Amino acid sequence: MELLRSTIFHTPNNPFRSPDTFVALEDGGLLITEGRVTGCADYSTLRTTHPDAVVRDLRGGFIVPGLVDAHVHFPQVRIIGGLGYSLLDWLEQLTLPEEARLADVTYASAIAGEFVNALAAHGTTTALVFGSHFAPATTALFEAAEKRGLRVFSGLVLSDRLMRPELHQSPDSAWRESKALAERFHGNGRLGYAVTPRFALSCSEAMLEVCGALLRDDATLRFTSHINENPREIEEVERLFAGASDYLEVYERFGLTGPNSVLAHSVHTTNEQLVRLATSRTSIAHCPCSNASLGSGVMPMKRHLDHGVPLALGTDVGGGTGFGMMKEALQAYLQQRVAAEPFTLTPAQMLYLATRAGAEALGLGNQTGDFTSGKAADFVYLKPVAGSVLDGVLKHTEAPERKLAALFTLAGAECVREVRVAGDLVFHAA
Ligand SMILES: [Zn+2]
Repeated sequence: MELLRSTIFHTPNNPFRSPDTFVALEDGGLLITEGRVTGCADYSTLRTTHPDAVVRDLRGGFIVPGLVDAHVHFPQVRIIGGLGYSLLDWLEQLTLPEEARLADVTYASAIAGEFVNALAAHGTTTALVFGSHFAPATTALFEAAEKRGLRVFSGLVLSDRLMRPELHQSPDSAWRESKALAERFHGNGRLGYAVTPRFALSCSEAMLEVCGALLRDDATLRFTSHINENPREIEEVERLFAGASDYLEVYERFGLTGPNSVLAHSVHTTNEQLVRLATSRTSIAHCPCSNASLGSGVMPMKRHLDHGVPLALGTDVGGGTGFGMMKEALQAYLQQRVAAEPFTLTPAQMLYLATRAGAEALGLGNQTGDFTSGKAADFVYLKPVAGSVLDGVLKHTEAPERKLAALFTLAGAECVREVRVAGDLVFHAA
């Protein structure tokens, strides 16, 4: 039994529903027994009730739940920073040529290693990951995640039109390869399988039918794809699926929405679609860095919240600008301040979006995302670099919410000192 002593922040309740449920323990204790949280309270209380626990004094830093990235592409690690494009040009000129290189499994394995290292080094303990268009490369990702000890849901990316031909599969091979990967990795330790058509644009009706059949065959699989990211993309989808009233209906028609589904972006979504997303409990992964970088637009967060659509956050690497979920939450805050319908995120809401909201979107809300007793001990230990601007700000800040706001504003990967999943060390700063 281990008792960690530090300032602790977490959001065991949804701060969008009840604003005063943010938990901040200035001199907090996190009690861990066999990889699970068995207490989270004031240090002195836990010390008294558990005198035998081994104490680690981590004062001067902050423990927060492991960060959850609800939308990120593993093959795109090496193309981060492709500025100056919009979605379809970026795919054609920069992204798809790189994704094609993952046909080489040696190359793919190297990328998978870099990818899981980057997740862990940024404090991300759980991620919903777009795999590769190639089964061996997707296998390499699952193996790298398993070796690293991260919670990763991923899947073979499916397309049978309008990509480069080498990225296409037939619906038959998509079924066979998806089935084989799901059988091997879904529910295997911390891994899970997500049926992953690239987007409706690159999938025929037969391919989307395969996706629906995979979900019907195993109702515990997750589903992920993209929606309403860019006006040109939406126009093309509506042209290709002439019978559908809108982009969302394409997914609905094949049974691809629901509580196990996470759709990324939702920048150009109508109120009528928001009603349908909320009714089906389909989650949206909000990716503000990518939305701005690719000029996709400012996501209407207030309308999503008003309609009760479940929201999480994703970095969308490599359309996004890096692996930092704290930076992603800051970018959400900044963009919503100046959105057409502005909304001011509180630091507690930012923490919730970067942790528990993602866990809930992935169906892992009872396992991770906060420090409720019984959950896995998934956490990040952040410590400001001595003498840094953040260090100076924190020393002159009293209120916990102000400290958390300063962390979101100034804490980068250099502050991530230790990351653990179910108590197991997955990253330790040198
Ligand atoms: Zn994406």
